[in-house]
Amino acid sequence: MKAIQISEPSVMKVIDIAEPKMGDDEVLLKMKYVGFCGSDLNTFRGGNPMVKMPVVPGHEVGAEIVSVGKNVPEGLKPGMTVTVNPYTNCGKCASCRNGRVNACEHNETLGVQRWGAMCEYIALPWEKVIPAGLLTPRTCALIEPMSVGFHAVSRAQVTDIDVVLVIGCGMVGMGAVVRSVQRGATVVAADIDDEKLALAKEMGASYTINTMTEDVHARLREMTSGFGPDVVIEAVGSTPTYQMAVDEVAFTGRVICIGYAKSEVSFQTKYFVQKELDIRGSRNAQPSDFRAVIHYLERGTCPVDRLISKEVKPEDAETAMNQWAENPGKVFRILVDFQ
Ligand SMILES: [Zn+2]
Ligand SMILES: [Zn+2]
Repeated sequence: MKAIQISEPSVMKVIDIAEPKMGDDEVLLKMKYVGFCGSDLNTFRGGNPMVKMPVVPGHEVGAEIVSVGKNVPEGLKPGMTVTVNPYTNCGKCASCRNGRVNACEHNETLGVQRWGAMCEYIALPWEKVIPAGLLTPRTCALIEPMSVGFHAVSRAQVTDIDVVLVIGCGMVGMGAVVRSVQRGATVVAADIDDEKLALAKEMGASYTINTMTEDVHARLREMTSGFGPDVVIEAVGSTPTYQMAVDEVAFTGRVICIGYAKSEVSFQTKYFVQKELDIRGSRNAQPSDFRAVIHYLERGTCPVDRLISKEVKPEDAETAMNQWAENPGKVFRILVDFQ
C-alpha cells in the first residue's frame, strides 16, 4: 500500500509498504483524509528531536472502519466514519496512575515516536478509535488539533467571568478560542496574521490583537480595565510569546503552556511569586476533549472550509509541505486525500 515517508529533512516521498495485519483487539481503518500537523512540518524541516527518521508522519485522521477484530465491542462497525486518538499510554507512570493519560511519560504519538497515519490502512487498538457521528472524514481530520486547544481550556478552568488571551491562532489556538467562547469567557485572540485574526473573530473572539503591529500591553489594559487577562493560553512556542504570557497575565491569573519552545526561555520569576500565578502545561488531549470537539463540529457552525487550506494527493504532499515551510503563517491545515 501507499505511504508517505520523510527519510531526511526536506525529502518526502510516496513509498510502498506492507498492509497491516489486524489483531483480535484491533480495528482496521481505511484512511480517507489525514492532516499535516505543525509537528509534521517540524519533522520535515529536520527540527523535531522526538522523531527518528525515516518516519511515516501524520496523526490527524478521518477514516472509515474496514473490519473489526473478534474482541472489539459492538459499537464499532465496518463502514463507520471515525477519527483516532493518536496517543499511547503505558498505564504505569505517574500521569497514568493519576488518570491523566494524555500526559503519559512514555506516550508515543502516531507519526512522531512511531510510524503514523499517512498511508492507506492502519490497524489500531479499538480503544483508540473514536466514532465521529455524522461528520465527514474530511472534517474528522480537524478533530485532533482542535481537541488539543479544548484541553488547554479545561486545564485553565475557564469560566464566564474570565478574559482569556489566546496567543497563536493556528488550529490548536482556534480550538482554545472556540472552547473558551463556549464556556462564556471573553476571548482576545492574538496572532501576527490578520486573516487568522478575522477568522478567530468569526469563531467567537470578542477582540483581536495583531502582535506585530499593535501595542499588546496597551490594548490588553484597555480591554480589561487595567487588570490584564485572567487566563493566557500560549499556543505558539516561542520566547517572546512565553514572556508575553507571564508579563501580561493578571495578578492571580493562569498561564497555560501548549507550545513547545525550541530554545530556553528566561523569565522574571518575581512575577510568578508577586502575581501568585498558576502556570500549567497542557499536553495532547483527553478522550472527553475529542468528544467535545465532535459535538461542536456536528453543530455545523464551524467554518471548516476555511480551516482546510489545501487538499493534495500523496504524490503532491512534498510540494505542499515545501510551500507551507516557506509561508508557515498562512496555512491552517493541509489534508492528504488517501481515497
Ligand atoms: Zn498534531
Ligand atoms: Zn504512562
